Amino acid sequence: EAPLWQLLESSAQQYPEHLALDLLGYTLKYKDLWKQVLAFAGLLQERGVKPGDRVAIMLPNSPQFVIAFYGILAAGAVCVNVNPLYTPRELRHQLLDSGAETLVILDLLWPRYAELEAELPVQRVFTTGLQDYLPFPKNLLYPVKMRREKRWVTLPPHPKRTDFKRALKASTPLAQPHPAKPDDVALLQYTGGTTGISKGAMLSHRNLVSNVYQTIAWSPESRAMAGKGVMLTAIPLFHVYGMTVAMNYGLALGYKLVLLPRPEVAACIEAIERHHVTHFPGVPTLYVGFNHFPGIERRKVGTVKICNSGAAPLPLEVIETFEKLTGGRLLEGYGLTEAAPVTHSNPVSGQRKRGSVGLPLPGVDAAVVDDTLRELPPGEVGELAVRGPNIMLGYWGQPEETAKVLKIDWLLTGDMARMDEDGYFYIVDRKKDLIIAGGYNIYPREVEEVLYSHPAVQEAAVVGVPDPYRGETVAAFVVLKPGQSVTADELDQFCRQQLAAYKVPHIYKFRSELPKSAVGKILRRELREMAAKEQV
Ligand code: ATP
Repeated sequence: EAPLWQLLESSAQQYPEHLALDLLGYTLKYKDLWKQVLAFAGLLQERGVKPGDRVAIMLPNSPQFVIAFYGILAAGAVCVNVNPLYTPRELRHQLLDSGAETLVILDLLWPRYAELEAELPVQRVFTTGLQDYLPFPKNLLYPVKMRREKRWVTLPPHPKRTDFKRALKASTPLAQPHPAKPDDVALLQYTGGTTGISKGAMLSHRNLVSNVYQTIAWSPESRAMAGKGVMLTAIPLFHVYGMTVAMNYGLALGYKLVLLPRPEVAACIEAIERHHVTHFPGVPTLYVGFNHFPGIERRKVGTVKICNSGAAPLPLEVIETFEKLTGGRLLEGYGLTEAAPVTHSNPVSGQRKRGSVGLPLPGVDAAVVDDTLRELPPGEVGELAVRGPNIMLGYWGQPEETAKVLKIDWLLTGDMARMDEDGYFYIVDRKKDLIIAGGYNIYPREVEEVLYSHPAVQEAAVVGVPDPYRGETVAAFVVLKPGQSVTADELDQFCRQQLAAYKVPHIYKFRSELPKSAVGKILRRELREMAAKEQV
């Protein structure tokens, strides 16, 4: 029932001299991180930011991100995480929708803000560069030319702009962080936008704190490593998954967070070797890259103990190879923004099941329901509904959208799932991605799994496209492994052997890559649009 910032405050009291952050060699101790958090909170207050005001962060993984995030909460304000890859159009939507009057942004991204300035309610902007914390020439985030010429970004003077680091030094630290109540909104976390317009999920202090303890409770090994663990923080912190499972979880346990500004496999492996990483949360595409990295068998990655995978389905073969290489445990879990985010996971010790996202976390109640919210028996497919202290308050300013997903005290996840006799859950597919062709229901994931099992196929995504006779028809987007070739006819024959005729794709499109979100999810919505356009 404490505000989220208290997790960090108590680690700072318990482990003042331990390292909290490491960005490619730049380090910050717990006591100093907490000091900077209070300094930023003080700065926000001096500049007129009041409790409840929204403050947006548009930064990659960096010390500034952690300082700004916790500083905003310590000031009682509401954090709005913005993806640094966003184009001006997407940035405009989030800033207008959230009404953020304050923005903390990477200097390189300033032009994206400047372009929109006249349309936005933003009153003050703090700019910071990675060079503020990370000396040249390690700064991999900046273009090679700038690094070679040691030429950092020089921004024009601007009445609304303040230099983050300089102002932080001059500010008076907040004496007492804002005593937020459990139901106060801490964060507006915009949904991934994989399937439609992005909405701001209102996550309260209780939601965020609960999910940290719920995920920790599932892993007694992690608790035993308090004050000693090393968390590889490669997944983005502006996404709810990295924010909870890497940042908040790691800081709550007094771990060292090894920050990587970009989730590159080579950098992950180097970081594991250099820092003796114990925790490596990731997404399936990252583990696939790790497993196939040239020479991986000879690398010293045996310190890795616990890895959580989420966001998308994790093929079993990937788990087995990864565990053989590291000796650690790779656990598939499931969650969504609206649940802060984790609701299910396979346990660290105890039974793991093939293809399952595991059991509900402590305090989470989960059920498979039909359209009238009636619970279905084990084995039947329906929509997954969840409830617990981690479920969002609602969507910011969107009562109608909220009413569509929060029913009584359940959150409807929009995912189709089934539960087995032992209470393990299996995600079948997203409800919105369901294809209805000629009256038949087709789950894209089932067709994709068949395509993935073809030796020439590296990646596959299946979508429904409008069809005058069948309502929808199945289209498959396929990326081939390097040096491999296969024709649409051959894939068609392959699918026919393993799928009922109505599920077999009618259209095949070969691509060199598939559109993906910031966390590496394949964007089926974009593919649907592409396929529909090409058909006309
Ligand atoms: P939007 O809500 O805007 O469409 P999004 O669905 O990607 O975007 P997130 O909250 O980032 O938003 O992701 C949650 C979704 O990710 C879940 O609803 C589910 O479809 C998918 N997901 C998460 N974990 C898994 C998993 N282990 N297996 C399969 N799907 C998963």
